[in-house]
Amino acid sequence: MEHAVRDELKQTIQQTGLQMVHDGMTVGTWGNISLRDFETGYIYISPSGMDYTSIQPQHVVVMTTDIEIIDGEAEPSVERHMHAEVYKARTDVGAVIHTHPIYSSVFGAVWMDLPAVSEDFAQIVGSQARCCPNYQLPGTAELGREAVATLGAYNAVILPNHGALAVGPDIRTALKVSQVLEKNAQIYLLAKLLGTPRLFEQKDIDTMQQFARQHYGKKNVGLI
Ligand SMILES: [Zn+2]
Repeated sequence: MEHAVRDELKQTIQQTGLQMVHDGMTVGTWGNISLRDFETGYIYISPSGMDYTSIQPQHVVVMTTDIEIIDGEAEPSVERHMHAEVYKARTDVGAVIHTHPIYSSVFGAVWMDLPAVSEDFAQIVGSQARCCPNYQLPGTAELGREAVATLGAYNAVILPNHGALAVGPDIRTALKVSQVLEKNAQIYLLAKLLGTPRLFEQKDIDTMQQFARQHYGKKNVGLI
């Protein structure tokens, strides 16, 4: 089945990793990225334990959602189970990005849902990113199932004492979701220093989501 493996998708994983480092979304080897080729069903996932600046396309691992390795010269990310569980549960998801950024992780440290306080977050994520109610060890299928259960139809979730998970129909959208999640977390925390964060009314979130659907196309926005 080698012919079904697409080099340009490996390059996309490599380039997205570099973009995340550039944007300050990840440090060293932390965090992992994957995308789904909807034609073959194959998952392209970043390798385990490699710095994003040293990952080459041949290190990107191609696997099935049952974690059968198809191609790649490295081990798949330690969080391969979490990525696979998301793809199995959400047939609309084409990309998964898992990061450990500071501000989103602060919400994970106090096991707190992150409410929308910025318009970009309201548009592409919705009213909130929920925090999983139970801690699960990294690298386990249990963490994947916990993340999926909390994610529901949303496109972002906070992992307790761990980090964040963002999904989207494509990798550009998943990256955008992870960026606005972190920005919204930062704004919420700074707002708490200054006063009481004021939340949107649900009708305004609905209107913004409607606008985003019309403006960016249905594939680019969250479902809630
Ligand atoms: Zn992690």
